[in-house]
Amino acid sequence: MYEKQLKLKCEELEKEIKLINESLLFITHELKTPLSIIEFIIQMIEVNCKDELSDKMGKYLYKIRQNTYRQRRLVNNIMDYNRINPDQYQLYLTRVDIVQLSRLIVESINVYAERKSIEMTFDSTISNLYLLIDIYLYERVLLNLLSNAIKYTPEGKSVDVRIFRQESKGCHNVCIQVKDSGIGIPNDKKELIFERFGQADRFPNRCAEGSGIGLYLVKVLVSIMDGEINVESKVGIGSTFSLILPAIDTDLNMPIMDTKAMEVVKEQFIAAADIEFSDIYYAT
Ligand code: ADP
Repeated sequence: MYEKQLKLKCEELEKEIKLINESLLFITHELKTPLSIIEFIIQMIEVNCKDELSDKMGKYLYKIRQNTYRQRRLVNNIMDYNRINPDQYQLYLTRVDIVQLSRLIVESINVYAERKSIEMTFDSTISNLYLLIDIYLYERVLLNLLSNAIKYTPEGKSVDVRIFRQESKGCHNVCIQVKDSGIGIPNDKKELIFERFGQADRFPNRCAEGSGIGLYLVKVLVSIMDGEINVESKVGIGSTFSLILPAIDTDLNMPIMDTKAMEVVKEQFIAAADIEFSDIYYAT
């Protein structure tokens, strides 16, 4: 009897969650069109009226643009959160040097670290390692870890990215680590932050905003890549997020992504970073 009631309750709850998700998706879709129009108008003003803008107007425009990026980030995250089904996701694999790719991503976000006077370092114990990887997923994951690292690290401190090989249970892996010297995460919140809308502190001493969807998406995307994500952290000292991916280069006939194609990809990273880092407030 009790089991039957419990089953009914679960089904009811599932229906409710589905309805909430559908409503959220509907609202997000409705937000997308006006947002695209505002973004287009900002671009037009920047291109066509650049010389006519006073410093004050330029600052206002910057604020408008920054806030549209924040909305775009939320819209993208909610859409991905509803759209990405790990069982059905179609990976778009490219054969690429993971060290070079990671370095490009880190280079494209250096400007945000500099704005907070954060020293950003990149270090790899391997000179190159070719993997079959979905660049879009990898970029989403690494950008999220990097933006969090910069978001939660005070001015003047450092963020270090390290890449090294890791053998585990007879498997060859590569580990990409993002280590910050920020506020840290309490032990009892280390699992919560990977949950939907999970935040270690809902009202922190805000130098940034957030919705708590980012790391949930990271966890989903990493599982699609057959990888693992974990965190070690000490409050007041900092956090280290480790992304572990299988280091298997199965399709040796597939052409390697060349430097020219990488440069094109770098332009995309820069555009994606503008959106990913829009939650952080800078002193200047
Ligand atoms: P958001 O940063 O947008 O709130 P995330 O899902 O990316 O969402 O992160 C969830 C929560 O995890 C954050 O709200 C924060 O409390 C905590 N967190 C994530 N990364 C870090 C970090 N590097 N240092 C300290 N806390 C972090």
